[in-house]
Amino acid sequence: MRRAYRTWRRRRILDKHPLDAGLWQRLSSRLGFVSRLTDQEQTRLRELCVLFLYEKQINPAGDFILDEEMKLGIAIQACILILNLGLDSYDDWVEVIVYRDEFMPREEYINEHGLMQTDHHAYAGQAWLRGPVILSWSNVETAWRHDGANVVIHEFAHKLDMRNGGADGYPSLHAGMNRTQWTLTFTRAYEDLRWRVRRGEPMELDDYACESPAEFFAVVSEVFFECPEVLLEHYPEVYRQLAMFYRQDPVGREAAGQWKPA
Ligand SMILES: [Zn+2]
Repeated sequence: MRRAYRTWRRRRILDKHPLDAGLWQRLSSRLGFVSRLTDQEQTRLRELCVLFLYEKQINPAGDFILDEEMKLGIAIQACILILNLGLDSYDDWVEVIVYRDEFMPREEYINEHGLMQTDHHAYAGQAWLRGPVILSWSNVETAWRHDGANVVIHEFAHKLDMRNGGADGYPSLHAGMNRTQWTLTFTRAYEDLRWRVRRGEPMELDDYACESPAEFFAVVSEVFFECPEVLLEHYPEVYRQLAMFYRQDPVGREAAGQWKPA
């Protein structure tokens, strides 16, 4: 779709589908990362949410029922990542599937003995390459707690990571960003966290980040939006790289797009 036409079409959608002001106020006031935004940014986030709800399908799994409030709650958390990146950053997929509770997809693989094996893991969320994002509503509900853990931000961070292939913690970077710097920064921080967790040091970062570079990227993205001061304190270089990647500076609140590395 040509950019000019898409912009015109999206403007029409925004004009035709105003968001319920009371609903927006009720939901956004529960999310700490929204209260950090300027009025202008909040307006942009609202518009992104309207477009997200229009262009994406948020479908319940089985007999679970999703209402407009639940869908908007997911949209706000999904759109905070792309506030300054735009909805086109999510243009390689369309569906969000929401289970009532943690879900157990049947996963089959060939094990080291050449036998088909079936795994049964309960998941709070999953992101499929160029496919849907799957969420457990019971985990989405606890994501409102503002404690650094947020399954929605986590899965959508994987989605951004996957735009240049599988999730590996190395998303495609914007012009002006330095891939060597990114790799060095993330490798150092990842190894440091693994070392600290092995030593049993109490850390404010979820040790699930130690699973792989992909999980590290998703977990630090959660903390970047939920408790940015914590990330800035523990891993300031990671914070700076994420600020450039997301084009946001939640601690400093620099004007959008004007963030410069220290
Ligand atoms: Zn993950």
